[in-house]
Amino acid sequence: MKKLIAGNWKMNGSLESNAALVKALLSHSDDWTCDVALCVPAPYLSQLQNLSKASPLMFGAQDVSTHDSGAFTGEVSAGMLKDFECRYAIVGHSERRQLHLESDALVAAKAQKALASGITPVVCVGETLHEREAGLTEEVVKRQLAAVIHLNGHCISEIVLAYEPVWAIGTGKTATPEQAQHVHAVLRAQLRAASAHADRVQIVYGGSMNAANAAQLLAQPDIDGGLVGGASLKAADFLSIIAAAH
Ligand code: PEP
Repeated sequence: MKKLIAGNWKMNGSLESNAALVKALLSHSDDWTCDVALCVPAPYLSQLQNLSKASPLMFGAQDVSTHDSGAFTGEVSAGMLKDFECRYAIVGHSERRQLHLESDALVAAKAQKALASGITPVVCVGETLHEREAGLTEEVVKRQLAAVIHLNGHCISEIVLAYEPVWAIGTGKTATPEQAQHVHAVLRAQLRAASAHADRVQIVYGGSMNAANAAQLLAQPDIDGGLVGGASLKAADFLSIIAAAH
């Protein structure tokens, strides 16, 4: 299947730096053989919509509300994202699970809202270091994915799934290709049990993926791409990861 390399800019960027970064990326877009997307802060969606026109670059948001409209200050609805032609919305990033106390059920509801608007949710699952050391990795990721399957079983093959071990995000510590592959295979089996179309789901790895480790991770049979934080902010690094995904 075609791999997906998605950048997660987190809360970084400016009109000026975004334009320079996207221009540098697009100057190599003729070489891309994988899907490439950038998940950007909501205020920059309109800019990305313009910059990516007539190019293979896709873009998305980093979150989506479970509500359609109303008194939810600060929230952004799936309909609003659709207005800007967002292709993707990250849901359940560990930073939101941890800093905003998002539950499995809330993440599943966000995925549902995105799907209902024709936006592909990039559903993030992953264990903390404490959970890994306690031998709970499989239990945790399966529980997180089960909530999403429970609410979205009929269209679960429409999601992108990101395995992001929390201890590897922004820390410079990467899961070994074997560690990541093991969890991806567990997740693939869980998807297969839920859907006849599970093999369509891109299961991407996230957690300090960089130009040096991308090729080995992406060579694993169940690693269908990457969700890239820090390295997506530097054109040369992100382009190296894209080049490693064929
Ligand atoms: C992320 O934010 O999803 C991520 C994987 O970050 P980093 O690549 O910086 O670890």
